[in-house]
Amino acid sequence: MKMKNNLITLDGVDGILDNSRVLSGLPKKPIDIFDQETCVHCNKDCSCGSGEFVNRYPHYGDEYEGWVCGTCASEDDQELEQDVY
Ligand SMILES: [Zn+2]
Repeated sequence: MKMKNNLITLDGVDGILDNSRVLSGLPKKPIDIFDQETCVHCNKDCSCGSGEFVNRYPHYGDEYEGWVCGTCASEDDQELEQDVY
């Protein structure tokens, strides 16, 4: 009886570990919106000729992978500067 109880307990621990692995996040696949050529922050068109094309840069986030337009890019720069000083 005692051996059987121990086995059950070990099974329980394994179950908890498996659960926490699931909860702590299986790698979520970001949505690729590079093809849309819209800003991941403001959804503005930043394709070639839109005026936001020049300063756009690629963004690889947890939820989205796509372009960040020039306007949002410069806002990010300002935030970075504020953080530094
Ligand atoms: Zn933007």
